[in-house]
Amino acid sequence: MRTYLDHNATTPLRPQARAAMLEALDLGGNPSSIYAEGRAARALVEKARKTLADQLGVIPPMVIFTGVGTEANNLAIKGANVDRIVISAVEHSCVLEAANATGKPVEIVPVTADGVIDLEALEKTLASGQGKALVSLMLANNETGAIQPVRDAAAIAHDHDALIHTDAVQALGKIPVNFGLLGVDLMTLSAHKVGGPQGTGALILRDGIVLEKQIHGGGQELGRRGGTENVAGIAGFAAAAKAACEKESDIKALRDLLESKLQETSPGMTIFSAAVERLPNTTYMALKGLAAQTTLINLDLEGIAVSTGSACSSGKVTGSRVLAEMGVSDALRACALRISFGWTSSEADIEKFIETWQQLVARGNQAAA
Ligand code: PLP
Repeated sequence: MRTYLDHNATTPLRPQARAAMLEALDLGGNPSSIYAEGRAARALVEKARKTLADQLGVIPPMVIFTGVGTEANNLAIKGANVDRIVISAVEHSCVLEAANATGKPVEIVPVTADGVIDLEALEKTLASGQGKALVSLMLANNETGAIQPVRDAAAIAHDHDALIHTDAVQALGKIPVNFGLLGVDLMTLSAHKVGGPQGTGALILRDGIVLEKQIHGGGQELGRRGGTENVAGIAGFAAAAKAACEKESDIKALRDLLESKLQETSPGMTIFSAAVERLPNTTYMALKGLAAQTTLINLDLEGIAVSTGSACSSGKVTGSRVLAEMGVSDALRACALRISFGWTSSEADIEKFIETWQQLVARGNQAAA
């Protein structure tokens, strides 16, 4: 049996999502058709919209279903009627790339050594530039799990007449996410990070905000995103989000157990962003001298899936951009491994990981001796 410890990459489908998807797939019907089959499909989409809206404390028309989280980020950033874009240095690459693709000025706000946005620098950036800005600040980082002060950033943004978008893809289902309490204008979500299917996302939009649509077609999603709705995907997304948000999570206890065992067995271990508020399911760590790429392959051979958080392009392995922005040395970045838990995780996973990890560390030490 495999030990899957990469829930921040994607989370296995929850049974509730699977059941909702099978029901939708059997239904057939285009939600835009006016006869009975179409009306039944429409009813499923609208029920899902209400379910998702309820989890976030918003009303259903504020929810736009999209193809993926990446598409929702693109819609928010490219569609906003602004003159310039301000993002944190640790945003997901789809936010950075969408911002650069607009051709508008893009200003990057630095993060601290713990991976949290520098709010003073945000304020200064907003105060110094010309024209209306869109701020995009993720709620939780996909690599470190560091939770960003989105509520404070929203207050600063609004003081400067800017719009604020948050990429909450990694936060939903792991920490409480309430759109109104955060005070943002736009929020991105993705189904497959909460145990829904891959290929479904959503953008939540405050009443009164108009975006330039990015996918032209029919008048679906109140004219804000063309294309026949992915009915089964949407039904699965809502069912997964409800299950993820409603269940009291004991994930933090598992994560803390892992970290205490790691500290015990590998005292020199660095855990990134450990000093700040983090997602309860994420450990991003490095043991100097134990190369992450090799460790990942060895763990895979032993039946364990984790991630390095590194990007690999044209055959050249580069360390994490997020860690580089936090000022982590190249040598330590090359050793960074991310472990992320989710609804399928158990103590047995930790035991298996620690046992294998100890063997790999011992082997690494022998090779170095
Ligand atoms: N934003 C963050 C923070 C993510 O971690 C991811 C996925 O890794 C995305 C956006 C993209 O979501 P999707 O895979 O649905 O396109």
